[in-house]
Amino acid sequence: MNNENILYTFIAGIAIQGNNPFIVQCNCGGEITIMPPMQENQVVCPMCETTIKLLVIEGDPGYVIGQGADGEPTLLTVQGSVEKPINMLSKEEREAILKKVKDNIKGKTNE
Ligand SMILES: [Zn+2]
Repeated sequence: MNNENILYTFIAGIAIQGNNPFIVQCNCGGEITIMPPMQENQVVCPMCETTIKLLVIEGDPGYVIGQGADGEPTLLTVQGSVEKPINMLSKEEREAILKKVKDNIKGKTNE
């Protein structure tokens, strides 16, 4: 039976510009190696068969903001980013980044 779950993951553009293979991580811990130049816009996890949609973001934004299960804004990891993974940040660090990202969004809307 196929797993029909779909996962969306963000990838920093800088990570796929070089000639090095890029490893996409699934929520289950599975890893998928993508060889350059990246042509896939989705891959399937070999471990849990979840379809992973790859959303490439130009450059290295560090983090993106999304909506958590509780409806509150939450930080999402950008794979391939040089920034610290979110699960390695303290609560204070996470809040500071979240605030910064929110301020950026406000700044852009006001322009
Ligand atoms: Zn998986």
